[in-house]
Amino acid sequence: MQKLTIADLDLHGKCVLVRVDFNVPLHLSDKSDYYEVTDDTRIRAALPTINAVTKSGGKAILLSHLGRPKGQPEERFSLAPVADQLGQILDTTVRFSSETVGSVVAKTIRTMPNGTILLLENTRYFSDEITNDPSFASDLADLGDMYINDAFGTAHRSHASNVGVAAHFPDLSAAGYLLEKELLLLGNALQSPSHPMVALIGGAKVSDKMGVIANLSAIVDHILIGGAMAYTFLMAKGIKVGKSLVEKDRIDDALELIDIAGDKLHLPSDHIVSTSLDSPLERQTVTGEIEDDNVLGVDIGPQTIATYTDLVGQARTCIWNGPMGVFEVPEYAAGTTAMAQAVASATDHGAITIVGGGDSVAAIKQSHLQHKVTHVSTGGGAMLKFLEGKTLPGVDALTDR
Ligand code: AMP
Repeated sequence: MQKLTIADLDLHGKCVLVRVDFNVPLHLSDKSDYYEVTDDTRIRAALPTINAVTKSGGKAILLSHLGRPKGQPEERFSLAPVADQLGQILDTTVRFSSETVGSVVAKTIRTMPNGTILLLENTRYFSDEITNDPSFASDLADLGDMYINDAFGTAHRSHASNVGVAAHFPDLSAAGYLLEKELLLLGNALQSPSHPMVALIGGAKVSDKMGVIANLSAIVDHILIGGAMAYTFLMAKGIKVGKSLVEKDRIDDALELIDIAGDKLHLPSDHIVSTSLDSPLERQTVTGEIEDDNVLGVDIGPQTIATYTDLVGQARTCIWNGPMGVFEVPEYAAGTTAMAQAVASATDHGAITIVGGGDSVAAIKQSHLQHKVTHVSTGGGAMLKFLEGKTLPGVDALTDR
């Protein structure tokens, strides 16, 4: 690690500002009078850092955003239910401040005992958060003695709570355990991977993942493409794709990537097609070109599953981002499920496997295999930026070792 980490800080008796990623899904209870957390994975992922602060006798002052409120309070984006959930998980009282900055919060922090936790209300209740406004960053910094960033999921953004605030602690801004783990695993995968290395890239849009494919093509041995983005590549190669989703304005970029990646780039050789996303009963398997203009590709076919399973099975390092098809529809989920199993099985045989991106994480959870891979990344956009080889502003802002 080139940056300070939590282990480098003396936390005892200090007010430690910790930027966590508590951007969790909330659901209005059946009685419609309170919100409950429906997936606490991100809360649990932050526990090692929070526990380290409290066990060292520091005060953990937690900062996070939740959802996309438009710069003002909205109950459905309040972090209050998250404080309750964190308290239940830790079996302790977690204080919650309905204000994010200001003298009332400062007083609460002064009077709370060492070793306790305070969660501040949603930083995105302030539009100054996403504009990285210097005075908002300064107000946040006023609340603490030092700063820890443990929010990998927002590390690709330049916001006040993850970049602006760090500048106020030039010698005391460190990575938390989760951020450190993400950076080490992804960094090792890019810089010194065990080969063969396989990247499994799927999802809807090739435009989101062009930079990733370009950067990975210099590192990995195989890039396996699935999902709708495969059809932009296939069309670029002059292969008929029926009415599959294609980004026509990206055909030239796709051709360039085909050229850059050469033999490393693998495209589906067969497909599950249907007349529409809503007509799973009409699905068929098509090998080679999709001649019928009335159907679209919705999943990779069995031959492609076999080829990709074989390549993932040989991998010593595997990175997966993006589903192989419209996995939300059970009849179109076979390709994605098979890849979840292949990645889990590769892990079993000693491969380092990293899964990231909202949909691939949902897919691996759907198959109950999230504990069978080396790491489920907590960052979708941040992971893609990292895999593109780009600097993450939230990491860059931390103190150099
Ligand atoms: P992304 O956010 O780019 O990872 O894309 C994920 C979305 O891509 C999921 O909602 C999938 O349903 C969708 N998707 C995957 N394959 C296809 C396909 N062949 N046609 C249309 N949508 C797809």
